[in-house]
Amino acid sequence: MNRFEWISAGDLATAARAGSATVADAMLTASGQPGTNAVILKGGGIDLLDLMKEGLLNPRRIVNLRAIPELRRIVEEPGGALRIGSMVTLTQLAEHPRVRAQYTALAQGAGQSASPQIRHVATIAGNLLQRPRCWYFRSLHHHCLRKGGEACFAFAGENQYHAIFGHNGCAIVHPSTAATALVAFDAKAELVSSQGGKRVVALETFFVTPDKDIARENDLKPGEILTSVILPPSRSGVRSSYLRQGEQDSFDWPIADVAVVVGMDPQGICSEASVVLGAAAPVPYRARGAESALIGKRISEDTARGAASAAIAGAAPLSKNAYKLPVFEALVRRTILSAAGQA
Ligand SMILES: Cc1cc2nc3c(=O)[nH]c(=O)nc-3n(C[C@H](O)[C@H](O)[C@H](O)COP(=O)(O)OP(=O)(O)OC[C@H]3O[C@@H](n4cnc5c(N)ncnc54)[C@H](O)[C@@H]3O)c2cc1C
Ligand code: SF4
Repeated sequence: MNRFEWISAGDLATAARAGSATVADAMLTASGQPGTNAVILKGGGIDLLDLMKEGLLNPRRIVNLRAIPELRRIVEEPGGALRIGSMVTLTQLAEHPRVRAQYTALAQGAGQSASPQIRHVATIAGNLLQRPRCWYFRSLHHHCLRKGGEACFAFAGENQYHAIFGHNGCAIVHPSTAATALVAFDAKAELVSSQGGKRVVALETFFVTPDKDIARENDLKPGEILTSVILPPSRSGVRSSYLRQGEQDSFDWPIADVAVVVGMDPQGICSEASVVLGAAAPVPYRARGAESALIGKRISEDTARGAASAAIAGAAPLSKNAYKLPVFEALVRRTILSAAGQA
């Protein structure tokens, strides 16, 4: 690992003035050798140090954001929205009473990600902005399209953990568990630019598909800091659940995971539904067909089964990952029933 300078910012203005690059820009090279001039932001540092140890990122300066008090809080807004500071850890999220009660799928997703040690350090911003796990992307010896190279090695190679939807040119799956749950809740991200300007974007549109930009997973601009994630006010009759399937019983990314949010009217009819698949596509995959199959119906084993089969309609598995289809089908059905309180 190269030498780098370290700054711990005590306030947002200092961090914003640091003039950070995005990690995606810093890793994008024609030669395959990363430059050594970038200023990079740090949350818990788990993904960042991983990339540095792998030789894929050589920053000149690292700006730690974890000492900024306002980014470490979860605040209930006057209208009922919940504002999660970007340096809140996965453990804080998993244990927060209101998140557990009203945004259950998020608490479950955060609480099942990685290992207890990682969850104590990993921040929500870092989790959403971590880079993909494709092993060719993580290898210094494979200069693939996402890093500025000329080929994707996954389509003709080892693609068992790759996408079954939306793999236009690149078949990564989005690595963030929290993103799967947050998209199901229609959460937003608040970002502050180096000039102090602020923008708020729906997370669903913040994540970027390979056909729009093959080199980045999100629309973070150079110099921007993700300051908070905003959950809309919870509504009565709305319940949620998150389930994952791992390849084995280990602290590892899931091979499939699902977050479901359903709203029921007083007669027990489903009035709203979000069904989001993780580890399925380069962005959290919203299964609109499954949502339509639930709305207007009473949720039962049969409706859940119909929605699950709608969720995988249109999937295009690669040479080694068709096994994901029955896994997702079972997981979507179980997560719907769990969200509806019938599991
Ligand atoms: C064994 C193992 C299992 C894992 N399993 C899972 C899993 O099941 N699910 C899952 O989701 N993850 C999993 N992870 C990944 C882990 O959760 C992430 O690496 C971690 O959440 C990253 O958070 P961080 O705060 O450490 O990010 P950092 O490494 O600090 O940052 C990640 C990226 O975000 C940028 N960044 C950080 N904060 C900001 C900000 N406020 N504004 C702008 N940019 C910012 C950084 O520049 C960097 O590009 C696993 C990791 C390991 C090692
Ligand atoms: S799937 Fe994407 S990240 Fe993986 S080798 Fe292909 S272009 Fe690179």
